[in-house]
Amino acid sequence: MRIIVTGAAGFVGSHLVDRYLADGHIVVGIDNLLTGDPRNLEAARPSSDFSFLVADVAAEGFDLGAAALRADLIVHCASPASPVDYAKAPLETMAANSLGTWHCAQAASAWSARLLYASTSEVYGDPLEHPQPESYWGNVNPIGPRACYDESKRFGEALVTSYVRSLELDARIVRIFNTYGPRMRADDGRVIPNFIGQALAGNALTIYGDGSQTRSFCYVSDLVDGIVRCAASDKTRGVVVNLGNPQELTIGQLAAKISEMLGVPLAIERSPMPADDPGRRRPDISRARELLGWEPRVSLDEGLRATIEDFRTRATRAGSRA
Ligand code: UDP
Repeated sequence: MRIIVTGAAGFVGSHLVDRYLADGHIVVGIDNLLTGDPRNLEAARPSSDFSFLVADVAAEGFDLGAAALRADLIVHCASPASPVDYAKAPLETMAANSLGTWHCAQAASAWSARLLYASTSEVYGDPLEHPQPESYWGNVNPIGPRACYDESKRFGEALVTSYVRSLELDARIVRIFNTYGPRMRADDGRVIPNFIGQALAGNALTIYGDGSQTRSFCYVSDLVDGIVRCAASDKTRGVVVNLGNPQELTIGQLAAKISEMLGVPLAIERSPMPADDPGRRRPDISRARELLGWEPRVSLDEGLRATIEDFRTRATRAGSRA
């Protein structure tokens, strides 16, 4: 198959590119490099089945439907995804998920191709239902600091669903819960890169609020496997599927675990909880289990070990370049 991955230089996008190439597909990666990093494509670059285009999928006049790009499947991952990143680039975030999704849907429709839209657990906002099944409508502040991400992803979902209803587009949506692993930007502001970076530098770990808020962390190879299965399945046409690891822990527990794994005493620096930060989050993955035969396989310990190793390697490389 010929597959377009938008956001190809990003954390999730680049792992997806590697997986599709390993599976023998032809992959076209597109990224505007706002938050992506071309170094994430080092493994993909030597492949003659891979090409890369620096372009903004949301830009006015960008013709994703151009004949030269024609593909069988578009996976739309392009968007800032860390709260720190989308707070810095709210308009670009809104554009990626509205206009960007529109361009992807138009192209997929013109080519009679498949579309998979990468949405987020953030559509559930600060959830009043726990764990979160796909049927839950969410609790989102439409004008809060996270609105640019949450509401544009919700718009993207509505747009894709409208394309499915009115033009019979062969599209599906995945709601991605917190994902971590190698290639996360050390400065992206999310909790796992922050804690690993801080612990490796011998600094205190920055806990926002009292640390009792929860998240459920999925290792990136598990997530990518879920995306690949969902995109390949005929059963997911017009369907939304949660992808995440149901193992839930508090941010305080995560801090203790990372300090312990790095063999450093737990030191904490507290700051106030950011506005609208969800109090708890855990996916109900019954649908993914049933439709895709999917569930996460990598334990938190195993995943964190690989992530710490990657952070160490990149820090050493950066140090030897300095
Ligand atoms: N968090 C924290 N310290 C940090 C970064 C994040 O305590 O240095 C908290 C944050 O307030 C949130 C949780 O960790 O409750 C997960 O934050 P992240 O930005 O990783 O993802 P998201 O909020 O999008 O789930």
